[in-house]
Amino acid sequence: PPLYKQRYQFIKDLVIKYKPKKVADLGCADCTLLWMLKFCKCIEVLAGLDIRENVMKEKMHMLSPLPADYLQPSERSLTVTLHHGSVAHKDPCMLGFDLVTCIELVEHLETAELEKFPEVVFGFMAPAMVVISTPNSEFNPLLPGVTLFRHSDHKFEWDRAQFQSWAVAAATRYDYTVEFTGLGTPPPGTENVGFCTQIGVFVRKYPKNGETINSEKHTEHAYKTVNFCCF
Ligand code: SAM
Repeated sequence: PPLYKQRYQFIKDLVIKYKPKKVADLGCADCTLLWMLKFCKCIEVLAGLDIRENVMKEKMHMLSPLPADYLQPSERSLTVTLHHGSVAHKDPCMLGFDLVTCIELVEHLETAELEKFPEVVFGFMAPAMVVISTPNSEFNPLLPGVTLFRHSDHKFEWDRAQFQSWAVAAATRYDYTVEFTGLGTPPPGTENVGFCTQIGVFVRKYPKNGETINSEKHTEHAYKTVNFCCF
């Protein structure tokens, strides 16, 4: 399967393994991953965030309940909410999640946004698990036609050392562990370049303190709700 499908499947496999109830996808674009995750029975709350409202709206009807959802109401309830906003801003609607995914997002962030990102995701949202994927620039010479970056909107592409040192610094600062893996194996003889997509899986070290009474978390809303549906 194409790499983007492998990335979605990687998340789906993690969801099946760890059974998170609340999952947020940051930089959700056309909501394809959210749509795949709505079929995971363990999930009760799904949220998406993107800075491009139009892209998010393109296929969001796919997230609505299907006739079968009304005809055969299931035991579980599912709430799906889409938010328009930036990962550089904190919004209380992103509190209390078990899993936060950032698939091919960080390389689209401007320097100032990237600087705020760890504090927003690991410090403020502080979910039990965070998954971040990004291109591995060491793989680029194997991709035909790629000169500087894989996509014109990429602000940077990191090699393994750059991604790992950024990720370890964030994990250390916000009390997470991080493990690295990837998708897209290089052809025989070129294994030394590593995976095409590099992935960091972060796990929060400290237990969840229920409803954190943290004055800093009484933050004003910064996102706009675009779509809300309930099953
Ligand atoms: N996660 C999706 C996937 O894997 O198919 C989409 C990845 S797309 C390459 C990057 C997405 O990040 C775009 O939809 C873009 O609008 C969004 N994005 C860029 N900067 C953002 C920001 N500051 N806050 C939220 N989303 C942002």
